[in-house]
Amino acid sequence: MNDSQNDTPHDDSAPCVSSNGSGTAHDFNLLVIGSGPGGEGAAMQAAKGGYRVAVAEKHPLIGGGCTHWGTIPSKALRYAITSTMTTLNNPMFRQWGLRFSPSMKQLKQGTQAIIAKQVNMRQSFYERNNVPILRGEARFVDDHTIDVDGQRYTADHFVIATGSRPYRPPNVDFDHPCIFDSDTILDLDTKPHSITVYGAGVIGVEYAAMFRNLGIKINLVNTRDKLLEFLDDEIIDALSYHLRDQGVIIRHNEEFESLDGCEGDSGAVMTLKSGKRLKTDIVLWANGRQGNTDTLGLETVGLEPNSRGQLVVDDQFQTARDHIYAVGDVIGYPSLASAAYTQGRAASMHMLGRKDGNLRLNDIPTGIYTSPEISSVGKTERELTAARVPYEVGQSNFKSLARAQITGRTVGILKLLFHRDTKELLGVHCFGANASEIIHIGQAVMNQPAPNNTIEYFVETTFNYPTMAEAYRVAALNGYNRLF
Ligand SMILES: Cc1cc2nc3c(=O)[nH]c(=O)nc-3n(C[C@H](O)[C@H](O)[C@H](O)COP(=O)(O)OP(=O)(O)OC[C@H]3O[C@@H](n4cnc5c(N)ncnc54)[C@H](O)[C@@H]3O)c2cc1C
Repeated sequence: MNDSQNDTPHDDSAPCVSSNGSGTAHDFNLLVIGSGPGGEGAAMQAAKGGYRVAVAEKHPLIGGGCTHWGTIPSKALRYAITSTMTTLNNPMFRQWGLRFSPSMKQLKQGTQAIIAKQVNMRQSFYERNNVPILRGEARFVDDHTIDVDGQRYTADHFVIATGSRPYRPPNVDFDHPCIFDSDTILDLDTKPHSITVYGAGVIGVEYAAMFRNLGIKINLVNTRDKLLEFLDDEIIDALSYHLRDQGVIIRHNEEFESLDGCEGDSGAVMTLKSGKRLKTDIVLWANGRQGNTDTLGLETVGLEPNSRGQLVVDDQFQTARDHIYAVGDVIGYPSLASAAYTQGRAASMHMLGRKDGNLRLNDIPTGIYTSPEISSVGKTERELTAARVPYEVGQSNFKSLARAQITGRTVGILKLLFHRDTKELLGVHCFGANASEIIHIGQAVMNQPAPNNTIEYFVETTFNYPTMAEAYRVAALNGYNRLF
């Protein structure tokens, strides 16, 4: 989501009305439903391409779940917790007698200001690009018409970017004051002593790490036998080790049988199918998400979402109806704000006849904001082994880097996977401080056309010293030394 992309003004020479092919003018060339990153990417790209565009949004403020109850508030809270606890745990401050336990209210204080900045900035993009926001809940009335809280609008094309919400099983009482999901957890006002996090996907693992940093006792219940199976095996092992080392109790291969809120607000008891019972002050349900499609009137346009409310799209993000596209969380994997934005842009480029504009849609990196962070791009060892690719590994341990020693952030590794014959970089996997930034150096090299996409770049390049980026040189040399 490059904010500066949306800065240039709309081309006013663009056509303002369009035809549905039967000679009837539509109100807009494109009507986007949802103002999260997916909707914004689509709206801005189409407006810059000369389309007359509008966005329907049912939340009082623009920005989507990303801004109001997903990425931004969770990362703002994480930053507040990490920076506060790093200061409070600094031995020097402790020696000086600085002892303080921040309340949830204090930790969340900065979040609203960050959200307001995001909303204002994004609002200005729509204003500068002449994209009106239609306030209200959108629903299809016919192939080219939507109703937004009683007002009807027509368009040639639609992009559904309505996002997703936490899946809520019917047998869990989410009205109980001790039972939360990833939307409601942000309303938590008092700091609990203990939390059971059910579901060890990205959201569950991130919240488990974040709350553990506050000293809260955590049970992390995983329905599978490994954490975040899509990651590199060594990174999974490192994550599991460090979560356990920090005091998180991880329970793999468990499934929930029932969840009962205790009298008043005195906790909740989760019973697992294995017979285990976990009683904690609160439970965070983080198991699965559901696409927001149920109120869109999709039956009127002949579209049927799958059992998780998600829409199936082709490579160009077109649904079964050519003029209706869908992007972001509503189409499922990878369910990232970063990917949603690129997908929105790609959908609009396709509408404008520019295909996907080489947006590298298959090169979406993973960024997981645990403590420390995880990030990866490209193939894992598991995938390369299955595909019988002769690869080699180059590794750098952060503890040997001068920068890490200076900052005291020595936990971490950078792994480079490369073809042993061509030296082509095939995958980059990082666990440690600033992993989500560091990864992009490897991504940039990996995406160069051959022969510029090899680890030789790291061997031959002078890196600033001391930096974390130096890990690339160390890892590349380490890999080179394994070759014979
Ligand atoms: C706790 C948490 C942490 C996350 N952290 C990260 C992260 O660190 N990095 C990352 O890349 N991703 C992260 N994500 C995922 C990211 O937030 C989503 O992938 C992203 O928001 C999806 O964008 P979207 O545009 O598809 O939908 P959304 O951002 O959810 O926006 C959808 C919008 O559509 C509106 N809408 C829905 N139905 C209608 C309707 N019928 N009419 C009008 N408007 C409607 C909604 O009000 C909403 O504003 C996180 C998610 C969660 C829950």
